Amino acid sequence: MSSIESTAVPATSAERSQDLLYSLTEIKSRVQQTAGGRDVTLVAVSKYKPSSDVLACYNHGQRDFGENYVQELVDKAAQLPTDIRWHFIGTLQSNKAKILAAIPNLYAVQTVASVKAASGLDKALSNDRTAPLNVLIQVNTSGEDAKSGLSPLTPSTASEDAQLVTLARYIVTSCPRLRLQGLMTIGSVSESLAKDKPNHDFETLKETRDSLERILRNDRMVPATWGEDGKLLLSMGMSSDFEAALSAGSDIVRVGTGIFGERHKKGES
Ligand SMILES: *Cc1c(COP(=O)(O)O)cnc(C)c1O
Repeated sequence: MSSIESTAVPATSAERSQDLLYSLTEIKSRVQQTAGGRDVTLVAVSKYKPSSDVLACYNHGQRDFGENYVQELVDKAAQLPTDIRWHFIGTLQSNKAKILAAIPNLYAVQTVASVKAASGLDKALSNDRTAPLNVLIQVNTSGEDAKSGLSPLTPSTASEDAQLVTLARYIVTSCPRLRLQGLMTIGSVSESLAKDKPNHDFETLKETRDSLERILRNDRMVPATWGEDGKLLLSMGMSSDFEAALSAGSDIVRVGTGIFGERHKKGES
């Protein structure tokens, strides 16, 4: 990007930049240690945090950032370096798909949960994009009313007409500009707090992924159109439980507070 663009973002104080370097380094090393050599992605969740914080982390080498709100993401993406990989992790309203799709360096939308949203994204994406947009289907593993996402699959409920299966097939067969990259869950706070036993939400997402992969393979769909080498990735784990998530097999962790500190705004998830 040009230096003219970068002047749109004021620099952080040296002290803030040091703090961010410290916490980012600590989280990265904990991720690395727990991942045990597996290739995992740390998404730095920067919602409500100023672009200057994002730029400081960028200058410390971080490239993957997550945002929950469409307008906030649009504004930040316009100001910040164009090689940032933006992950949209907020609730996706299908009428916002077009605005999201216009962000050239949008890397992934982790919260697709309807055919309408997938179709909206696919149709709105430009032919000029060099790579397909990664999408993850959000799964409501805890079954809480307040959480978005489709019902998980278990070996006994993994039926051909489950909504999740229908949506996955739709993305793979009918959305040429999307790549089904994996599944995402938020999980319940109580599961996250009960650290002495396996996290039920993480286990459920894994089971759902295994069932879905089996179904897609049986469909004999062209492997290149979904997953990484025919494997679907798992996006699970946040500040309070990313190590447990990585131990359970997570490929993508989304850490906000652990890097940027507490958020001070009402009404956030
Ligand atoms: C805010 C948010 C995060 C980050 O949460 P922290 O607890 O601050 O790490 C991760 N995933 C989603 C979907 C979020 O909304």
